[in-house]
Amino acid sequence: VSFYFADKASPEIGEAVRAGATVIVPVGTVEEHGPHLPVSADTTIAEQVAAGAAEILVREAGLDVLVTPAIWSGYSGAVMSRWPGTIRVRTRVVMDLVRDVVGSIIEMGFRRICIFNTHGHHAGLLRTVTRELADDYGVYVSLVHAWSLAKPEFAELRQSEPGGAIHAGEVETSLMLHYGRPVDMSKATSEDLFRYKSQFISGDGYPGGAGVRKVFYSTWGLQPSKTGAYGDPTVASAATGAKLHEMMTRNLASWIVEFHDVTARGEADKEP
Ligand SMILES: [Zn+2]
Repeated sequence: VSFYFADKASPEIGEAVRAGATVIVPVGTVEEHGPHLPVSADTTIAEQVAAGAAEILVREAGLDVLVTPAIWSGYSGAVMSRWPGTIRVRTRVVMDLVRDVVGSIIEMGFRRICIFNTHGHHAGLLRTVTRELADDYGVYVSLVHAWSLAKPEFAELRQSEPGGAIHAGEVETSLMLHYGRPVDMSKATSEDLFRYKSQFISGDGYPGGAGVRKVFYSTWGLQPSKTGAYGDPTVASAATGAKLHEMMTRNLASWIVEFHDVTARGEADKEP
């Protein structure tokens, strides 16, 4: 069974609407990812994790699910254009684009939509978009960020010290190795390990990464990057990537099962 939205003919999409299918919209970007990773990293990871979760949902939960093509361009801070490969779409354009893409999906009748985001600079923008969609359509879209899908066990699995898994660090590099994408490990360096530590901000947001991020303040404003990366990609491996992919897809699939139940309850409440 294919779960790719774009592979379906219009009547099949209509059937999916009637079946109450969940639509996953992967959101990545194209931006520099240090000297060792392709600029597609965020888009590739968004596509792969969304497809992996859909596969689990179809196979194990028998849920109807569709995955749209990934949104491949987005917003990156201006500082990142110091390295070639960063395509920068303005914040409001990104918000309007996602709002219109998801709005179209709602207008064709879908009520269960999950935006799956892999890009840090999109976190606040996408959250606001879900509020706007709820106001416009009365539909509460769910938003999942990739970094929240690593399970606590990742603390044991990771090889990098806190601060090693941020931008183009151990996590993204391991996933890209697992996906067999062109990664040049000979160019990977740990010189941009995130070293800032305080009671408010330290390490990275993954389990075992110290996890103390009580204040939002851009990494780019705390420690200049020499290579365009943040973290330690030198310890990345395809084996770690495989385990991370498994964790992330399982967790995303579990959320979508719960989301399905939550929205089913919402629908039942609406009935007179
Ligand atoms: Zn990335």
